[in-house]
Amino acid sequence: MTKVLIAGGAGFIGSHLVDRLLARRDISQLVVVDNLWTGTKSNLQHISDNRLEFRQADVEAVDASGQYDEIYNLASPASPPWYMAEPMRTISANVIGTMRLIAALRPGGLLCFTSTSEVYGDPLVSPQPETYRGSVDCTGPRSSYDESKRCAEAMLFEARRTRGIRIRVVRLFNVFGPRTRPDDGRAVSNFITQGLAGKPITVFGDGRQSRSWGYVDDIVHGLERFFWLDGGDYPGPLNVGNDREVPVVDVAHFVRKRFPHCAIQHLPPVPQDPTNRRPDLTLANQVIPGWTCHVPYEEGVDRTIGWFRGLQPAAPAPRMRVPVAANDPDDAPSAPRRQGRPTSVATDPWN
Ligand code: UDP
Repeated sequence: MTKVLIAGGAGFIGSHLVDRLLARRDISQLVVVDNLWTGTKSNLQHISDNRLEFRQADVEAVDASGQYDEIYNLASPASPPWYMAEPMRTISANVIGTMRLIAALRPGGLLCFTSTSEVYGDPLVSPQPETYRGSVDCTGPRSSYDESKRCAEAMLFEARRTRGIRIRVVRLFNVFGPRTRPDDGRAVSNFITQGLAGKPITVFGDGRQSRSWGYVDDIVHGLERFFWLDGGDYPGPLNVGNDREVPVVDVAHFVRKRFPHCAIQHLPPVPQDPTNRRPDLTLANQVIPGWTCHVPYEEGVDRTIGWFRGLQPAAPAPRMRVPVAANDPDDAPSAPRRQGRPTSVATDPWN
């Protein structure tokens, strides 16, 4: 029987992967390690399966005695305001955490890692194939996330080369859907929580920057196909995302149709916000043939609105990270903010 560890299993994507792992009958024990930095226990509360064990701990503190047959590493914040607020902790989770998980793997075990399309930086090539080496600023505001993911990829491929460990590395493009934190700070969840609170929908810059918006069910299906169903021995990296590229402002206007009383408010552009992002899925079509994103963002947004509406306790006004009016105290941000906005720098001891 298979003993599995998932780091970051109480997070947005991690908890969906837990659901898929528990559908496997060969797994005898599933240990979720999560420090609840961005994850929440409520993401797992629907599960009653005595194979599941939850341990609240940092990924860097995982028992490294080489006992797990399979390890899934999703232990990292992925939302820019969250990782920008704690860059050293983000680097540690990805770099030290991945190093620790390599040591926690039994000989012959499999380590799966969710990397990111951020390894492509602000891409000069579109769509981005896995062979594109990217355009990342290693001292820029997104570097803690981008470079620590790149370093974790490097570590895994070197461990494969020098120690023969089995790996699967996925590069995720933008993902949205149920179990995103209301204060997560990414575009779709911001727009929806703003709409539900009757507040302006905030678009950074002119909103012409584009992303590929993958609904979480489609993306997690891609993960299980690659990680354990039929990925073969291909180590990756493998792009997993929706290859329909849509400007941010279009998504904002779509969400506004559901909340017509809300205005669209343009705020200053975010420093080094990537201008475009779209996966080249040629390799995915070979490694996991037939897999594709079925849920268009419009339907995904509607499903996500439904999920946010059902959150308990009912609809407290979300505390957004972006001030929508300088003199409105209700709009003072509490969640981490983007680099370049005053308080994130002032309160960060590393700066
Ligand atoms: N964005 C926006 N308004 C928001 C949140 C995000 O216009 O309230 C933009 C952001 O500047 C970026 C895009 O939406 O261009 C996607 O941002 P997100 O934080 O979701 O993910 P990213 O791809 O930047 O990691």
